Amino acid sequence: MASPFNLKKEGSKSPAGKSATGKSGGGSSSGKNSPDGIWVKCPDCSEILFRKEVERNQWVCVKCSHHFRISADDYLALMVDEGTFDERFTNLSSLDPLKFKDSKRYPDRLRDAEAGGRKDAVVTGIGRVAGEPACVAVMDFNFMGGSMGSVVGEKLARLTEVAIQEELPLIIVSCSGGARMQEGILSLMQLAKTSVQLARLGERGLPFISVMTHPTTGGVTASFAMLGDVILAEPKALIGFAGPRVIEQTIQQELPKGFQRSEFLLEHGMVDQIVSRKDLKSSLAQFIRFFRDARAARPAL
Ligand SMILES: [Zn+2]
Repeated sequence: MASPFNLKKEGSKSPAGKSATGKSGGGSSSGKNSPDGIWVKCPDCSEILFRKEVERNQWVCVKCSHHFRISADDYLALMVDEGTFDERFTNLSSLDPLKFKDSKRYPDRLRDAEAGGRKDAVVTGIGRVAGEPACVAVMDFNFMGGSMGSVVGEKLARLTEVAIQEELPLIIVSCSGGARMQEGILSLMQLAKTSVQLARLGERGLPFISVMTHPTTGGVTASFAMLGDVILAEPKALIGFAGPRVIEQTIQQELPKGFQRSEFLLEHGMVDQIVSRKDLKSSLAQFIRFFRDARAARPAL
């Protein structure tokens, strides 16, 4: 079968590589809740907030700590030391091997999504997190709901390979509706591909820290996002496989309050820690150092 993605001439660094320069996009996080005005309404507590103040607070509501959704670039600016991010695998973009069409042709959907400046739904690269070198991937919900097709799977698999070769920890920030329906079985294959790579990383004693943000669902939860040596989640993030309505219909029971939210999952052992956005960088660095020391103390492989 032909490769499901385009392999164009590799560029050196994409514009997204500049994301760790401290410039925060912020606005991309907005959606309906933060129009380009000076005010923004919190979707959780309904408080009308001064946009600049929320932005300064890393897009966390100053009243109720609701975490607004932010873009991949915003996460990179938040986690990775300024000017250290070297983006990799920017040359991959999806083809349309299944000639898929729903209400729109898949190539048209891709073209619309690419207008946002990114070729697919994940950014991958190497950077420093509070001084600690790490392979970092961040999914972008703005690109087709952060769905995982061949390109997302391939980029994550390749980044994991870099982590193995260069003996670096791996961090993946997930934000996704799941597998990309338009790529059918090819999307589902990415679950196996990413999982195999993470198993290889684990065999080398290298850590994978999974950060789940709102929402992390479907095939992403069913594969790499739940395979972290440490699984972190943002407060109140929706995390699950199928949606609550589907589950309720299937089991014919009402679901408990807070079902599929970070706090519920922490209580039931599916998440290790809930980390507020302002503590994310220091938390990641702490785990990286912990695993590095643990690896140094174990017998050579
Ligand atoms: Zn609020």
